[in-house]
Amino acid sequence: MKIHEFQAKEVFSSFGIPVPTGKVAATPAEARDAARALGLPVVVKAQIYAGGRGKAGGVRLVESAEEAESAAAAMLDRPLVTHQTGPEGRIVKRVLVENASDIEQEVYLGITIDRARRAPVVMASPAGGVEIEEIARKTPERIFKEWASPQIGLRPFQAHRLADRLGLNAKTTRAVAAVITNLYRAFAETDCTLAEINPLAIVSDGAALAIDAKLNLDDNALFRHPDLASLRDPNEISDLELEAGKYNLNYIKLDGNVGCLVNGAGLAMATMDLIGLAGASPANFLDVGGGANEEMIEHGFDILLSDSDVEAVFINIFGGILRCDILARGIVAATRHRDFDLPVVIRLEGTNVEEGRRILAESGLGFRSASTLSEAAALVAQAVSKEAA
Ligand code: GDP
Ligand code: MN
Repeated sequence: MKIHEFQAKEVFSSFGIPVPTGKVAATPAEARDAARALGLPVVVKAQIYAGGRGKAGGVRLVESAEEAESAAAAMLDRPLVTHQTGPEGRIVKRVLVENASDIEQEVYLGITIDRARRAPVVMASPAGGVEIEEIARKTPERIFKEWASPQIGLRPFQAHRLADRLGLNAKTTRAVAAVITNLYRAFAETDCTLAEINPLAIVSDGAALAIDAKLNLDDNALFRHPDLASLRDPNEISDLELEAGKYNLNYIKLDGNVGCLVNGAGLAMATMDLIGLAGASPANFLDVGGGANEEMIEHGFDILLSDSDVEAVFINIFGGILRCDILARGIVAATRHRDFDLPVVIRLEGTNVEEGRRILAESGLGFRSASTLSEAAALVAQAVSKEAA
């Protein structure tokens, strides 16, 4: 789960990481008042679950309260398109108004999980800021790394060694080492998959200040952090994802035109690969999991059909705990209460498969069945290419 910059800054602050003073505003007038209260100059920053705002007009440095108001007016209630949002962008509902900092240098700090090493990796670079992706691609040797022990954590000498490599003066090096230590504590204690400060600004008196803040939380650990879980912003989650969440289903939106209903994440991946091999691409996938009941299947199928990109449906189920007859009943129930004429290809295997096939066949709904996975994928690819023609 992602949270907004201003929320991540509150978390950082509670872990002793210095952040600029700021206020959140939902209207241009609130942004103007915030600028007056904070003192000028200020930066006005669009709050969306995506980075790349600086290059896209979502971060504006202004000298007056009136300018803060017009900067906020230009951002609020409109989509902001950055290289991380996709072409449709994200609607900006709030801006963060903050005291502007006099930045001498922008440092990058980030912590994520290194799966190959099975340990958190702490990264730092003296070349932080909006070009960090370019640095990572072209001069990766300018990003320094330390691996923390999952049991012991990041040792103090590792934080200092990392800070030392940034080529800063002694005072600033100490300040940065302290930020690294605190960022690691924030990462570990809130169960993050990513904690990032880009940039960490080195300001004129040599202090370090987190100008930007990003925290991605591990969904599987959210139950331990009800306060953070409650920050979830429905504005940032698509309606269909929200709807799926209500029924404990996993719905992931993709950019092709085949709707996929599967059980289990592994089967979902394999299904997408097969669809790709057959020359088509998935519009989404809906994972109904292992223990779905008829009602969940019905809602799931409904959600999948509500995606207007879907031109054909591929149902790929290996029934174990989820019995094939339950699946078939759910699908038939969903198609009964809505008009639809999309081709549906079904590949069913496992518990009660005969019963499941019988229910589908007797429904009179014209589902196409396939007995092997590759046959099913070929059928569905054929179906979408016909739709296109
Ligand atoms: P992002 O583009 O979404 O990552 O947004 P950031 O919060 O990182 O801001 C982008 C860039 O705007 C930063 O790298 C800075 O160069 C600049 N910026 C942001 N806040 C300030 C500030 O207070 N003072 C100055 N001078 N520049 C800032
Ligand atoms: Mn940034």
